[in-house]
Amino acid sequence: MAKVLAAVRTGPSKTEIREFPMPEVPADSALMKMEVAGICGTDVKLYKTPPSAAPVIMGHENIGVIAKAGSEFVRRKGFKEGDLVFVEHYVMCGKCEWCHAGQYRHCENTDWRNNPEGIRYGYTSAERAPHLWGGFAQYVYLPWNAVVHQVPKGVSAELAGLVTPMANGVEWSLFDGGVGYNSTVLIQGPGQQGLSQTVICKQAGASLIIVTGTSKDAARLKVAKELGADHVIDVQKEDPLQRIKQVTGGKGVDVVLDCTAGAGTIPILLGVEAMKRKVKAITIKSARGHSYKACELALAQLASKRFPLEKVTTHRFGLKDVDMAIKSVGGHGVPDVIHASLMPWL
Ligand SMILES: [Zn+2]
Ligand SMILES: [Zn+2]
Repeated sequence: MAKVLAAVRTGPSKTEIREFPMPEVPADSALMKMEVAGICGTDVKLYKTPPSAAPVIMGHENIGVIAKAGSEFVRRKGFKEGDLVFVEHYVMCGKCEWCHAGQYRHCENTDWRNNPEGIRYGYTSAERAPHLWGGFAQYVYLPWNAVVHQVPKGVSAELAGLVTPMANGVEWSLFDGGVGYNSTVLIQGPGQQGLSQTVICKQAGASLIIVTGTSKDAARLKVAKELGADHVIDVQKEDPLQRIKQVTGGKGVDVVLDCTAGAGTIPILLGVEAMKRKVKAITIKSARGHSYKACELALAQLASKRFPLEKVTTHRFGLKDVDMAIKSVGGHGVPDVIHASLMPWL
């Protein structure tokens, strides 16, 4: 019987390559051959401090080719074998109010945090049949309720691997932050998330984009400029507030996006200060993931080739290098990684 190789998180900062049986594919399901799994700050966090002791195939930003599709899957979902697709890590239950409103990212029935039976790519236990619930594997299993997007023609799997940070960019800066024509924006953190926000804000017509980082972010700040940031600030070398006031003529910015991956309250306090003139009208929102529409807009943005996003997809890793790949994204491995593509067949 054919086997599928996967990198399984077996404990804090521990990975093992394991073999799983190639699953049967019922009529309403499909099997995706993995091309690229993006790695983000969430992986860094969940690898270091796993939320449970269960073995998990991580990888929640998954691009692949439909390798096998049941007849009902093809009929209901409109995808066929050979299609290059992006599968969201959210899986909808299709029954609750959130799902009916299209807000399946808030679906409680499929959220692993409150439902141990819930399925979410990169989070669900590998002990649960048919086991292939994460992208750090050669194949991923797609049940009827997986949320699947077509990758536009001309977009490589590696470029499509940026869709998650880009979709978050659309959701947070445009839908939540209301960035638009002539907006002035401060983006804190020049990682893949901050850089994606930069591109989205630029495309939306922001007239001023300031990106901040620390001294270890020198390469990332350079890319921020190449993607359209008007000013970049190394907060360890100069007072960010001073500079923000200077470039905004003392007005401060309209919108602040904290993409510092939980650096704590300092970015938030700086953000509030950076908007000071508007202090009575400040709204603080906590953003969560992306919607279907944000993903579609992000894929269209990638297809436009308008920005040199290949400068963001800096590194590729194979399946046996999952441990190093995650550590590198966290800043403790290969230097200057911005976006790491985990390519299980490399
Ligand atoms: Zn992620
Ligand atoms: Zn639901």
